[in-house]
Amino acid sequence: MAASIYSKGTKVWFEDKERGWISGEVLSTSVHPDESVDITFINERQREISLRTTLKDITNNARNLPPLCNAQEYEQVDDLTHLPHLNEPSILQVMLNRYSQQQLYTYSGIVLVAVNPFADVPIYGQDVIQTYAGRNRDELRPHLFTIAEEAYGAMQSDSQNQTIIVSGESGAGKTESAKYIMRYMASVKSGSIHDTATSTSVEHQVLATNPILEAFGNAKTSRNDNSSRFGKYIQILFDDQSSIVGARIRTYLLERSRISFQQRSERNYHIFYQLCEGVSSEERANFGLDADTTGYRYLSSSSIKIDNVDDATNFSATRQALSVVGIDEEKQLAIFRLLAGILHLGNIEVTHRRDAKDSIIDDKNDAALQKAMELLGIDPVEFAKCTTKKLIDARGEKFSSARTMDQAIGVRDGVAKFIYSSIFDWLVLRINESLSADEAVQREKSFIAVLDIYGFEHFQTNSFEQFCINYANEKLQQQFISHVFKLEQAEYAEEAIDWTTIEFSDNQPCINLIEGKLGIIALLDEESRLATGTDESLIDKLNSQLKTPEHKPVFKDHLHGNEAFLVAHYAGDVSYNIDGFLEKNRGTVPDEHKFLLTNSTNSFLREVAEVGFNVGVDPHLHTAPGSPTKLVSPKNHVAPGLKAVSGRKPTQASIFKSSLLTLMDALQKTEIHYIRCIKPNESKRPWGFDSPLVLAQLRACGVLETIRITSAGYPTRWTYEDFAAR
Ligand code: ATP
Ligand code: MG
Repeated sequence: MAASIYSKGTKVWFEDKERGWISGEVLSTSVHPDESVDITFINERQREISLRTTLKDITNNARNLPPLCNAQEYEQVDDLTHLPHLNEPSILQVMLNRYSQQQLYTYSGIVLVAVNPFADVPIYGQDVIQTYAGRNRDELRPHLFTIAEEAYGAMQSDSQNQTIIVSGESGAGKTESAKYIMRYMASVKSGSIHDTATSTSVEHQVLATNPILEAFGNAKTSRNDNSSRFGKYIQILFDDQSSIVGARIRTYLLERSRISFQQRSERNYHIFYQLCEGVSSEERANFGLDADTTGYRYLSSSSIKIDNVDDATNFSATRQALSVVGIDEEKQLAIFRLLAGILHLGNIEVTHRRDAKDSIIDDKNDAALQKAMELLGIDPVEFAKCTTKKLIDARGEKFSSARTMDQAIGVRDGVAKFIYSSIFDWLVLRINESLSADEAVQREKSFIAVLDIYGFEHFQTNSFEQFCINYANEKLQQQFISHVFKLEQAEYAEEAIDWTTIEFSDNQPCINLIEGKLGIIALLDEESRLATGTDESLIDKLNSQLKTPEHKPVFKDHLHGNEAFLVAHYAGDVSYNIDGFLEKNRGTVPDEHKFLLTNSTNSFLREVAEVGFNVGVDPHLHTAPGSPTKLVSPKNHVAPGLKAVSGRKPTQASIFKSSLLTLMDALQKTEIHYIRCIKPNESKRPWGFDSPLVLAQLRACGVLETIRITSAGYPTRWTYEDFAAR
């Protein structure tokens, strides 16, 4: 039996440097009395290959043997796990075949794999939505809508909350997929969603959250012209008639560094360009805004225009969406005023004295300072003083010491980042207020949530942001693997098969390293709270405390051990450069600036700053997703000044960790559906398919791992009919 797996004519795959895999077939086999086996193959390039193995290795599907090809009828299967021979080249072949027939979606067991076409495909219209509504998975081709329908149906029949997790690397199509799913939900019940400008139905309000969050939270990066720089968990709330009654949004870790700096060919957040292009002439004069964005330090990267994107048109769309969710025009102007303030803030000149390192800001003649402070409602002289000098309180005695130029620039940019991220948090809070107001929550019976979260990241240089993102991915991967493993176990139990020998990669050690009691986040926080802490002292601390036998397999030795640390993630080793870790983690402004912001004469800035200072402190600002607690509105609060906002400052990593733990808890209580988006080529080429790139992503998103689990006991799965026929 074992030898017949490779018999004359059996089709196999061979690895190939150029094409990834090429096909071949068995020419002859001979089995020897000692159970060794000689096999000769010929590959597509007409090269003969001989191999000596054993019956045992063949039975065990050993790695050194060429994987088996599937019969032609399987070349386009809807579900990868239906392949008789489950191996990487066969999976790739199916994906490629389907993609070249414009079939973007393929199942891999419970997962829907989606390959980005980078081209318009007419498969998302109302007609298609209605085709999928109420139909089973087996009746129609794989689609985002089958998953949406499955979630919708399960919510109705099991009365259980549902989550659809959409993952994949930057540019893979997560946000687009999430939007199609939201549209499906919004129109499947009501029959259609028309793009009428005036409509403020709750479905429209839910959909209007997309352009708002994209304007404020997306930017052009080198990998995606519309890259989401935050994670999003949106719950769509339904009543007992399965009609939409509202929504609840949680966001995660908006990238702050982008406010003051962008890589070449990248941009700042879309809203800044929309504002500069789209404001009326009266507003332009009021805000002192120039249409030419190159004059602003925060926007001055080389990339200004995005192909096929009109920032001015999008600005009207953003304004309209803000109105739909109940943020009126007066508030909108207040937001734009702060955004203009941020742009002017960035143009404040910080220099240093010729004879010393002490920083200087010209508080009389710097026009940017005057304009920024006018918009922000802060005294320019005070701002200049607090930014160039540091107030030190030594045992009750107060004195000031000069900041260097770089330090003062860091403080200036820190204030800009803080205001911007506070505006973002404020927006989310207000959207939640109108979309999950008391009335909605009272009618809410269940929800379908969509999680659009950044996939695993591994760049040339990786920093704090990648660290947090990859930590989130470790948690999601753990959840996913244990889910799949439990399902698989159940199936084996049903067929009374011994499954105890099946192993899967357990990423708990890596999670312990990151979030454990004395793990990376704990040490990072400890160092961030020390006045004397620096990136150098942090890396020393990590190296001296984490090089233990427990962490050794995941906290690896690093060639540049005093500049970076290396974590062995499930999807690969990543080296994190320590530069900027402490500053990014502290993520706050000096106390003096906190005072200036919370005592500004601009009442909207006070309101926004209160939200910003309370993130992670005030439990009402980040309630557990799914909890019906009403969100506290900051709008009637008086600016609290220094006293109310002091105390132990939550760090960015600890805020992220606790919101991630809350998220994982919330997910656990829902029924989960998985969509894995794949970016098939780096250059965003329509219908371009780069096999090694696809393979790497299938690996990183866990699809290959689950296939491995699935095939661990049973490398080959035949139905009885097929087996008998053979
Ligand atoms: P990021 O992590 O950077 O936010 P993402 O996974 O959310 O990336 P998207 O912004 O959804 O990626 O998609 C990137 C681009 O790919 C889109 O702007 C669009 O041009 C194209 N795209 C994605 N999905 C589709 C689709 N289903 N049909 C056509 N084009 C698509
Ligand atoms: Mg996105």
